[in-house]
Amino acid sequence: MTSTQLINPATEEVLRAVEHVDVAAVDDAVARASAAQRRWARLAPAERAAGLRAFAAAVDAHLDELAALEVANSGHPIGSARWEAGNVRDVLQFYAGSPERLSGRQIPVAGGIDVTFHEPMGVVGVITPWNFPMVIATWGIAPALAAGNAVLVKPAEWTPLTTMRLAELAVEAGLDADLLQVLPGQGSVVGERFVSHPGVRKVVFTGSTAVGKKVLAGAAAHVKRVTLELGGKSANIVFADCDLEQAAATAPGGVFDNAGQDCCARSRILVQRSVYDRFMELLEPAVRAVAVGDPAAETTEMGPLVSRAHWNKVASYVPPNAPVAFRGTAPTGPGFWFPPTVLTPERTDRSVTEEIFGPVVTVLAFDDEHDAVTLANDTEYGLSGSIWTDDLSRALRVSRAVESGNLSVNSHSSVRYTTPFGGFKQSGVGRELGPDAPLHFTETKNVFIAIKEEQ
Ligand code: NAD
Repeated sequence: MTSTQLINPATEEVLRAVEHVDVAAVDDAVARASAAQRRWARLAPAERAAGLRAFAAAVDAHLDELAALEVANSGHPIGSARWEAGNVRDVLQFYAGSPERLSGRQIPVAGGIDVTFHEPMGVVGVITPWNFPMVIATWGIAPALAAGNAVLVKPAEWTPLTTMRLAELAVEAGLDADLLQVLPGQGSVVGERFVSHPGVRKVVFTGSTAVGKKVLAGAAAHVKRVTLELGGKSANIVFADCDLEQAAATAPGGVFDNAGQDCCARSRILVQRSVYDRFMELLEPAVRAVAVGDPAAETTEMGPLVSRAHWNKVASYVPPNAPVAFRGTAPTGPGFWFPPTVLTPERTDRSVTEEIFGPVVTVLAFDDEHDAVTLANDTEYGLSGSIWTDDLSRALRVSRAVESGNLSVNSHSSVRYTTPFGGFKQSGVGRELGPDAPLHFTETKNVFIAIKEEQ
């Protein structure tokens, strides 16, 4: 049996080892989840709603514990980790409203009545990355349970602790232990078994585009339903007519949040040439002011990278001859620290085209609206982005023209659970969150009932 030694990214101290499950354990979990799903789906909608509300309440009673666990396992600043634990509670609470609202339709037909039902799929497998472990797991868990499914979660190898704790809290809240199971293990073992097991009817995968393509190919063999939330290389487009001070002050938060380990990071800043120099003058002090340090300190805005392996990957984008405009600060000594870094490369440089997933941002100048949109769309990704302008018509024109699933104007809004989230192009397939998410965990069944003619 293999295991992972979990390392605190801020101190490099060993936290604990977590044992991996094997294929036989996954198969056993699927069988138990299948039986639990049938029991769960038979409950009255109000009982399932109550179960989710109780789960949300159990999370609410353990917010500080969950946040502390994420600080230790993932190096997230405590303020962010508290927000994440609160988001888990809120997402469960939001989808607790769904079981009693999952109505089908009655469609006019000749000779009888026609109704649709939203049937649960059965067992759903959720595969998560290490960057927002408990939050991303819950974006799959909550709507899937609400729609009457059982859920198996495979957390990322480096960051399983909060997700494992969530499963315990579900049991404390009274849910069947087999209904939500967390199976720590390797992607090539547990993740691949979710994809190949015929009893897992849908896979929700959040992670890199490279692995997402494997999941999609594997799912094709079973015509298995998938939702894919993949990589990003989002643009922050700054037009000359915007509030430039505000755009520069908020740009670091838009990309360096979670040390840039955010699929929505606005990691390409595109600035209209006429205000480029002024923008850079304003950006420099904002970048230097980012408080990087001990994640447990309340004032910390950015913690370390998640692991040494990931640090090496991020560092490869800033070789000694990199076009560094300026950098922020970072602690020295133990921990996977990387300072916020601003690059001014050529448009074709790999730092501009590849997802770095660290605190490295590129700044490029553009000439006009057409050039800005062309540059923004010159990527295989299409997840997120921001548009800074005081011209309402331009804001709308550019919002419609940028090929991306989630845009914000004059802000860098984060993901809201009340609104749909997902990517264009190679950033994904399908949408999570928002009012329709439970429907994506159902199959629509159409039933026609003939009415006999009066005798
Ligand atoms: P990753 O693709 O390496 O791993 C993601 C998960 O997939 C892990 O749990 C891993 O164990 C598992 N896995 C690995 N090989 C597998 C296989 N063959 N079959 C099934 N599962 C397998 O990604 P990561 O490094 O953990 O996360 C970073 C990536 O995630 C970035 O590209 C980031 O943009 C993306 N991401 C996307 C979103 C989004 O919502 N679009 C959100 C967060 C992260």
